[in-house]
Amino acid sequence: MTHIITALCLRDSACVQVCPVECIVPGKPEAEWPLYYIDPDTCIDCGACVPECPFEAIFPEDEVPGDHSAKADQKFSRNDGSEVYDGHDDKGEAVHLEKVRTLNAGDVVDLRPDIQANYDYFKTGPGYKAIGK
Ligand code: SF4
Ligand code: SF4
Repeated sequence: MTHIITALCLRDSACVQVCPVECIVPGKPEAEWPLYYIDPDTCIDCGACVPECPFEAIFPEDEVPGDHSAKADQKFSRNDGSEVYDGHDDKGEAVHLEKVRTLNAGDVVDLRPDIQANYDYFKTGPGYKAIGK
């Protein structure tokens, strides 16, 4: 199993530094892969990244919710929105995302498609380069 980063990720990078096996990478190109991704072959399921995420975007694979109930103004980044998000990562670097959606309190979203996307990033996407495979 692995942990999965879901579309609640806003690329603030806080999870990266706590991972003991350095298996979390930013999706690139960002316009195509808007989240950070976890290499499923390297993740040891320690859970250290989960409490670090300010947006509560990370779940054990078997706990990724199909019916996540959003908080007010929670951002959803899966390249299917029409908004722009401008923020900062935990080092103060600018984060600029396009195709984001702002959710209303109680909106229900399915986060499970991000499981396959995470695997795809390393199998068929550019992720194998990101972790030096
Ligand atoms: S669960 Fe542990 S090993 Fe897996 S990505 Fe998170 S910090 Fe890294
Ligand atoms: S800490 Fe959360 S928001 Fe930041 S990069 Fe990791 S998963 Fe994304």
